Amino acid sequence: MFRPLHACALPTARLVSQRVCLPGALAAPHARFISGIPGQPPLNHIDPSKLKITRTASPKEMPSLETLKFGRNFTDHMLTVEWSLENGWEAPEIKPYGPLQLAPSAMVFHYAQCLFEGLKAYRNKAGKITLFRPELNMARMNRSAERIALPTFDGDALLECMKQLIKLEKNWIPQLDGYSLYIRPVLIGTQESIGISPPNRAMLCVILSPVGPYYPDGFKPVALHGTTEFIRAAPGGTGAYKIGANYAQGLHPQKWAAQLGYVQNLWLSGPEHYLTEVGTMNLFVAFRQPDGTIELVTPPLDGMILPGVTRDSVLSLARSHASGSISIDGLQSKLVVNERAVTMPEVREAVQAGRLIEMFGSGTAAIVSPIDKIGYMGQDIIIPVESDGMGPVSRPLWKELVGRQTGVIPSDWSYVVEDPSVKA
Ligand SMILES: *Cc1c(COP(=O)(O)O)cnc(C)c1O
Repeated sequence: MFRPLHACALPTARLVSQRVCLPGALAAPHARFISGIPGQPPLNHIDPSKLKITRTASPKEMPSLETLKFGRNFTDHMLTVEWSLENGWEAPEIKPYGPLQLAPSAMVFHYAQCLFEGLKAYRNKAGKITLFRPELNMARMNRSAERIALPTFDGDALLECMKQLIKLEKNWIPQLDGYSLYIRPVLIGTQESIGISPPNRAMLCVILSPVGPYYPDGFKPVALHGTTEFIRAAPGGTGAYKIGANYAQGLHPQKWAAQLGYVQNLWLSGPEHYLTEVGTMNLFVAFRQPDGTIELVTPPLDGMILPGVTRDSVLSLARSHASGSISIDGLQSKLVVNERAVTMPEVREAVQAGRLIEMFGSGTAAIVSPIDKIGYMGQDIIIPVESDGMGPVSRPLWKELVGRQTGVIPSDWSYVVEDPSVKA
């Protein structure tokens, strides 16, 4: 069963009465926002047919794959699209990767009018290049834009321009297992003003970075600090959007967790200590029920949770397996999948009773990230992991997911950028 990304969870008791979950707004009817001025004729959309390409005169060397560090190397070109309130989106441009020229008064430097996305391009041995569910990233990017009053855009049109950029840079996509090209779109407010308002100038930019496996030497489970002294998100806040400000404020807590000997923050919410996310990943917990059924749980999209593409894909695959519509090798068939609230006391009790099977994070960068320990209220709670660093739920789901991301398992989640076996 396929559940749309913006399927909105029902209100849970822990939320304040003002709902943070607005299905209408989440559905992002883009066209409504392309015109900056209500009642005025619609402004220019992003127009891929106007794409202007300027090639670099000095192409870089591909870095050595063995020493590739995540997000440190960038390809030769980038895509930029400028926006103004008067004209809408200008003609998109692909040009050599390099510094941007921005005034120090550009709003982004003062008020964090900045959002981003993250997705990957894969190239198989036959040279076929694919993306994984990129339309979900485009929809999420528009929701983020709307939330911080940056301009929205036609996601299909941006995707078309990104396709051109990726084709131009295809030799930067390593064809080795576990490698891919990380795609980073970013949108910023560029109006020169230190008055706080929605900007009348903005810029969208897409850069590309070749990346290797997140865990080159096999899965390495992480120890989390159950964080009660800081929060990542609150009801009605911006936690459900991929905006820069969410990440700046998480860095000090991350340093704090590191000082205590943990790798990441487990973000807890409210006096009940509801689990929300881990670092910058979504979170899954697997419990064993008395009859042996596995319950796979992730917190509901209540406005504090980033609606991850990986989260949605894990849920969808697990539900399809549970319903019998697909069969995932190695995954127990007595499985129920729930989006529901989980508290730390529930996790602690389940560990004590031997009913906690495993816990893992999910996200585009690492795909799945197993957890082996949570420091909570001065005590370490040990989470089971098997000898390969994974567990009986994460292992088969990870294999299935990677198969679909790389196109080894055919699926309609795969978006083709270029297929040399198909003659035009
Ligand atoms: C990006 C992100 C995720 C994961 O989203 P994916 O689409 O699966 O990569 C989860 N939580 C936070 C806070 C994020 O920024």
